[in-house]
Amino acid sequence: MRYTSTRNNSVDISSAQAIKQGLSEEGGLLVPVDIPHFSQEEIASFASMSYQERAYRVLSQFLTDYTEEELKDCVAKAYNKEKFGTEVIAPVYKYDSSVYFLELWHGPTCAFKDVALQILPHLLTKAMKKTGETREVVILVATSGDTGKAALEGFKDVNGTRIIVFYPKRGVSEIQKLQMITQDGNNVGVAAVEGNFDDAQNGVKAIFTNRDYQEFLSNNNFVLSSANSINWGRLVPQIVYYFSAYAELLKNGEIKPGENIHVCVPTGNFGNILAAFYAKEMGVPISKLICASNKNNVLTDFIRTGVYDKNRQFYTTTSPSMDILISSNLERFLYLLSDTRTVKSCMDQLKAEGKYQIDERMLSKMKEMMWGGFCDDAAAFASLKEVSEKGSYVMDTHTAVAKCVYDQYVKETGDKTKTVIASTASPFKFSQSVLMALDGIESVAGKNEFALLQMLEERSGVRAPKALTELTNKRAAFNITCKKDEMEQMVNEFLNI
Ligand SMILES: *Cc1c(COP(=O)(O)O)cnc(C)c1O
Repeated sequence: MRYTSTRNNSVDISSAQAIKQGLSEEGGLLVPVDIPHFSQEEIASFASMSYQERAYRVLSQFLTDYTEEELKDCVAKAYNKEKFGTEVIAPVYKYDSSVYFLELWHGPTCAFKDVALQILPHLLTKAMKKTGETREVVILVATSGDTGKAALEGFKDVNGTRIIVFYPKRGVSEIQKLQMITQDGNNVGVAAVEGNFDDAQNGVKAIFTNRDYQEFLSNNNFVLSSANSINWGRLVPQIVYYFSAYAELLKNGEIKPGENIHVCVPTGNFGNILAAFYAKEMGVPISKLICASNKNNVLTDFIRTGVYDKNRQFYTTTSPSMDILISSNLERFLYLLSDTRTVKSCMDQLKAEGKYQIDERMLSKMKEMMWGGFCDDAAAFASLKEVSEKGSYVMDTHTAVAKCVYDQYVKETGDKTKTVIASTASPFKFSQSVLMALDGIESVAGKNEFALLQMLEERSGVRAPKALTELTNKRAAFNITCKKDEMEQMVNEFLNI
């Protein structure tokens, strides 16, 4: 399989190169030139396979320049019971006769980004070797919370890599901060930056664009890379769990081979739902993709009208990982609906005016397969409470947005086709908001994170993940704060150069 750019079809590179590079040189995203297809028999045969086998089958279609042994090694290192606490890796929970939750949060940081970030480091180190790179990779991340920790857990102790995470001193939750500053591993570095997320992100961008500094790093045998969600190496592992969800439903006798299902995804950057779209194109019988947004509903408007307009108020919500106005992975979807010229023109307009419009043909193609909806915090809280009361199942706030939007879809269409809702985080990761939804704001007043974890355990009858409860006993290895203009020095210190 070869890879090209969404903005320039003369780009022609291998999958290892695509993963190493992350982004195409002219700013486009890297995409496979074809979408591989599985027959219904092959898809049905996934029912009797382990998650690891399913992963190998899907990845090997896209990462054709990796050997079978290499891919199986990556899969084994990423997806095991030790890391995910379950052999199934992504279990499907039956809520009622038509709704199933695909639990993507059993990994080490309790959110779905682990599924990609546990395997990416292994794909990346192999990509480095394959492309003749001998320098050590330094992954730099600016994080508003979840991605930083997931990247730290993925890259820790992976030979040939270093990982350095900057988080804003103001702007991450107490538990997110604890998760990061107590990080173990012999190749990790974590520092707070005085300022907000933009300050941290701008600092990292400045390092990435400073040629002199990169040369200095290179002279010390280091090369920078990023682990952000537009890297193909993060998207491709997410396709696997939609095959796996379908296979689990088949295995459990919930559906017949070939039966259509819908998939509903709480969406921010459009990565997770794009993976579902790829699974659909590859043959998984998915009929509708339901795109759920919170009050930052730029995607809902886009799906309904064909106008993408980021010039609007930004809201901070209780589903913070979806508080996004530019969904970068949408570019890949546009490419699949059109061509490089159209994509380039849309992206140029987005940059210049914060806005673009697609034509009628693209809009109707999109509407055929997608349905968009959104809800505010109050509506998501009501869904969370209802599901807890009716089904004794406690969701996190992001998943609650998806359930709420799914209910809107059913109300509007009357369509009761069996639907898999992507559950993207453990409720314990957002204990405070979840308890507020269940018992009101007074119930959480004055409680610290650990008291909240305990309260939610009692309330839900489920044990909190050890990765969170154990934080209280862990040593803070990184009590480090730096100023915005000291970030390069911080990197030097972590790298000992
Ligand atoms: C990142 C994230 C999302 C959004 O996923 P995208 O792939 O960016 O659309 C939703 N929920 C949680 C918990 C997340 O961490």
